[in-house]
Amino acid sequence: MTIDFSLSPEQEAIRQLAHDFAEREVKPRAAEFDRMTNPADCFPWEIYEKGNRLGFNKTIIPAEYGGLGLGELENCLVVEELSWADAGVGSTYFVHALNLLTLEDVGTPEQKKQVYSAICNDPEDRFFMSWPDTEHGVAGDLAPRDFAAGRVRPRPLSPADWMTQQTVPRAEQREVTTIAVEDGDDWVITGMKRFITSAGRSKLMLVSARKGAESYDLGGRGWFIVPADAPGVSIGHVEDKMGQRLMQNAEVILDHVRIPKGQELQGFFTRPRTRGGDVEVAAVFTGIARRAYEEALGYAKTRYKGGAHIIFHQAVQALLCDMAIKVLTARLLMLRSAWQNDRHAGMTGHNYMAKIYCSDVAVDVTNKAMQVYGGYGYMRDFPLEKLVRDARLGPIYHLTNEMMLPLLTQWLSSMDTMY
Ligand SMILES: Cc1cc2nc3c(=O)[nH]c(=O)nc-3n(C[C@H](O)[C@H](O)[C@H](O)COP(=O)(O)OP(=O)(O)OC[C@H]3O[C@@H](n4cnc5c(N)ncnc54)[C@H](O)[C@@H]3O)c2cc1C
Repeated sequence: MTIDFSLSPEQEAIRQLAHDFAEREVKPRAAEFDRMTNPADCFPWEIYEKGNRLGFNKTIIPAEYGGLGLGELENCLVVEELSWADAGVGSTYFVHALNLLTLEDVGTPEQKKQVYSAICNDPEDRFFMSWPDTEHGVAGDLAPRDFAAGRVRPRPLSPADWMTQQTVPRAEQREVTTIAVEDGDDWVITGMKRFITSAGRSKLMLVSARKGAESYDLGGRGWFIVPADAPGVSIGHVEDKMGQRLMQNAEVILDHVRIPKGQELQGFFTRPRTRGGDVEVAAVFTGIARRAYEEALGYAKTRYKGGAHIIFHQAVQALLCDMAIKVLTARLLMLRSAWQNDRHAGMTGHNYMAKIYCSDVAVDVTNKAMQVYGGYGYMRDFPLEKLVRDARLGPIYHLTNEMMLPLLTQWLSSMDTMY
């Protein structure tokens, strides 16, 4: 068996298509949408419609339904290129792909047909999916917005709290408070999700909910295909984000939303059952890091200071070389994980590694690129400050990198070799 690191002609063609689109349609307008003061104005439908017409929301849908019939690796190439131009656009496509990958892995043939056909036959080509899972969390906790606004005060932690470190009563330890109750042939779902990507812009959602009042653990959780226009679904607060503003994030409110039982995904409770989208996140942050490196390299070759172009200063060389090594390493890990996923190798640990590493690299590389720019890096009419803001999301969303550590450690401890 040989190892070949080159892209196939088909893979190179889709990468080039995405890059040309990103260069022509996304990059020139990203700063303009990023600066809109109302977060609801930042979502550029004109860009997304064109991307969808090229098939970027259908890459992994099988050709028999009208999709491009490509794999996760090809989708990651698209997401990386789009994120190179704007990470919010890349993230919108990553979350959409997360839904499709989940359906591909655990959906029934009927569910796949229903969703794929709806996306491929959408007359407006505006079909995105959302993944409403995150909630405020523990039921008895303080609402962070009230806390930040000074409307509530936290209970002071006592010495006994520090001894036990169990400050939340068992009955309130539910991570998922949204509940799905059986009613005849239907599920009736009630709850509230927050931070949800594309909420208010998507047409279909995969929603998580506790099945029945008594279930606490992940095993008691179900996932349901919910149309965004179903009676009882509404959108709450639209988040005003620090970065990645071209993706929309908002609360999703579910008030006795009734869906047929056939809309429940079967057997999907834990991440290892599906590819999980981690490597798609890795593609977003590889794209940001690569862009920051390219900007810094270009700047270092043109900026003249201290008797020479700054690329001749050894300290600047150290920054550039460190950035280049990390971008290439991140990309190799990301592509290798995607390649394994397409072979259903069950290598979930590599996906966790890719998410953690590529998001950390993006934070590091954008900061170093800002350093290469000196004072101009801090100015809003230069590209670095946006890249720094966009990159900072990586270690936070789709599980924080800290939250991924137990998952990665569990996988490492179950393997004879990490290769
Ligand atoms: C822009 C954006 C887009 C998002 N899109 C979506 C989406 O489409 N769908 C969706 O469902 N969610 C989405 N999220 C939610 C995201 O996945 C969560 O914000 C993330 O998982 C962290 O959860 P949290 O915000 O509740 O932080 P918290 O859980 O409150 O974490 C606070 C801190 O505590 C640490 N911490 C918490 N628990 C542990 C633990 N067990 N061990 C160690 N450290 C811990 C964290 O690492 C962090 O440092 C999005 C978030 C953002 C910001």
